[in-house]
Amino acid sequence: MIVYKFGGASVKNAEAFRNVLHILTTVPTTEKILVVVSAMGKTTNALEKVFGQAFRQEDYSHALQEMRHYHQEIAQELFPATDHPAYASLQNQFTYLEDALQTVQPHDFDRQYDQIISVGELLSSLLLHHYLGSRGFQNQWLDCREYLRTDATWREGRLDWDWTEQQIQQHLPAVLQESPIITQGFIGRTAQGATTTLGREGSDFSAAIFAYCLQAESLTIWKDVPGLLNADPKLFRDTIRYEEIAYQEAIEMAYYGASVIHPKTVQPLAQRCIPLYVKSFLHPDQPGTVIWNCQHDRIAPSFILKQHQCLLSFHTKDFGFISEQHLSSIFQALSKHRLKINLMQNSAISFSTCVDADEARVEALKAELAQEFVILYNQPLHLFTIKNYDQASLEKLTSGKEILLEQRSRQTFQFVCRPTQDFPH
Ligand code: ASP
Ligand code: MG
Repeated sequence: MIVYKFGGASVKNAEAFRNVLHILTTVPTTEKILVVVSAMGKTTNALEKVFGQAFRQEDYSHALQEMRHYHQEIAQELFPATDHPAYASLQNQFTYLEDALQTVQPHDFDRQYDQIISVGELLSSLLLHHYLGSRGFQNQWLDCREYLRTDATWREGRLDWDWTEQQIQQHLPAVLQESPIITQGFIGRTAQGATTTLGREGSDFSAAIFAYCLQAESLTIWKDVPGLLNADPKLFRDTIRYEEIAYQEAIEMAYYGASVIHPKTVQPLAQRCIPLYVKSFLHPDQPGTVIWNCQHDRIAPSFILKQHQCLLSFHTKDFGFISEQHLSSIFQALSKHRLKINLMQNSAISFSTCVDADEARVEALKAELAQEFVILYNQPLHLFTIKNYDQASLEKLTSGKEILLEQRSRQTFQFVCRPTQDFPH
């Protein structure tokens, strides 16, 4: 069996839905297939906006109306019959959404976020299910929350692999025997029944979870780029496509922030040697990139940019050396406030780390450590990584930039700098 994942751009309008149908009809009917879909277009951002307004007790009706209108317009193009059951499905989701928004409380942001933002994937998967069915492509809609169990780490639910694998293996092979499955990315559920999300852009990871648990032959992620490139073409000029790449290389790129695949996606696939194809939904016959268990020589340098970074440095108050105890309290506070270290460096009397500039979390961290350290910080900054760098690529990227921190190993060069205007790089 195979797993396909369609991202937001591949279901952003009615024409994109038709294209998904086209791609799915090229799969031999003997092949069992599970399809994971993200929320349509920029729906997750739109939901974040609506929820943010509701949370701040502001008027969210306009933003909600816009989102509803967007879905409704696409539905009208896909389902000319006004009594098509797709409309009832859509209405159910919006009724849920409205009720949930009306009862939003001004505390407990992360938990309520998950209950609301998850609607995007339910909407897109329902529309796709109905649309494919209406065009004679038999399929079954599946609520993935019945299979993906996570803990209650809101907005970044941690998967209970054992439970999930058992549940999927026990039930899904028989379902797949009957017809293709259409399900959601990005969402799961706790044992107590609350919805969770797996982190922004987490649908790739969901697809990898299904592929792993079903021991799929392959996973294909359909994107609006021709494959895995050595840089994001929106940010860098003259990008190239890798034809094939080893799991480890892809894991490292994702770790450093390459946005083409969610960082947690590759590891489960690598564990079971399941190849990951990254392909363009606009040119489905083109080869794209395959990430698998291959050997290759040093590959062309890849360039990765993380924006909205904050550089924090912690200095002892008495000019004493940074000790293991100091590091321990810094790391504990980072973990407690869920700030991920993107880069770190230690010197005699200070410790510096670059984290995502999440204002609320950074403030909480500073408050917690203010007693023990003098804390300096700088933002917004850019964190660049060049994997497999050479002298030429290094010089080209650093030239003209004000660098605050740099670090290099044999393969990887990273630096933090002030944002510059010269996009693309
Ligand atoms: N819809 C979610 C997001 O935009 C998940 C995903 O697209 O992978 O973050
Ligand atoms: Mg998305």
